[in-house]
Amino acid sequence: MKLLPFLNTCLLFVGSILAINAQNKEVIITIDTLSPQVYMLTGQGGNIGIYVGTDHVLMIDDQFDRLSDKIKASIALLSDKPIAFLFNTHMHGDHTGGNASFNGPQTTIVAHDNVRNRVKEREQKNLDEAKISESFYEDMLPEVTFSDNITFYDGNESIIGFHVHEAHTDGDALVYFMNNNVLHMGDTYFAGRYPYIDLKSGGSVAGLIKTQKKALMVINDETVIIPGHGRPSNKKELAAYIAMLEDISDKVQKAIKAGASLEEVKANTDISASYDATHGSGFISGEAIRETFYNSLSQKTTE
Ligand SMILES: [Zn+2]
Repeated sequence: MKLLPFLNTCLLFVGSILAINAQNKEVIITIDTLSPQVYMLTGQGGNIGIYVGTDHVLMIDDQFDRLSDKIKASIALLSDKPIAFLFNTHMHGDHTGGNASFNGPQTTIVAHDNVRNRVKEREQKNLDEAKISESFYEDMLPEVTFSDNITFYDGNESIIGFHVHEAHTDGDALVYFMNNNVLHMGDTYFAGRYPYIDLKSGGSVAGLIKTQKKALMVINDETVIIPGHGRPSNKKELAAYIAMLEDISDKVQKAIKAGASLEEVKANTDISASYDATHGSGFISGEAIRETFYNSLSQKTTE
């Protein structure tokens, strides 16, 4: 008779152990060497780019605040030079979450104008709700912003950050290391999985495809691409990815022209059937990608 309460207690106990394990699950930072001076760090959140220059380090994106010590330890394995610049590819928390930990007298945070505006808005809310301190708030904000392009010069290397319009958000920038021939695409490219397009933050399907085509013009067959998420990639894979996005875009546009509703496009598995198995098993499913394409291409928001 007392078996049921006992079982319930057991299940609760097992449940809490699983929850604790999930919380404490150790994040391991791995390092990929992409060129003589450029590395990719993977942990949790967006891929980090590290450039080791003649007298300083330039870093692209910083994942989450809770991982900052681990990320710093990994960078220290590559160089003991100071991190002079931290570049944010866009505003999302898994790319800017560590800003306050890395910001300091030696480090300047650089981003597009809209990144500062959106990080400011988000962190102001956190400040108002007393989740963060005034100094943490100040340190989260990019200190140098640009509207179009910005170039960093270091020895023989020129590093160009260039803004692309209405792609993953309204503040995306790609960073190209000319001599090392490495391109960090931020979240305008998810290698091997469907893209996440943040329509509420100014992203669009047309802008994302246009951005990827622009990237294709900049790079060559030897270029290594750091995607916002996924493994290091290349021109051939990016070209195939663009073809996939254009195919889905054409099919959704045809459905919209034929008068299909959002529900009908979401239910129409044919639209993305060729790609769901390879690209739709993660964060963004086939149905989710059809919904995003419909909303963006019919110029509605996801409100
Ligand atoms: Zn993002």
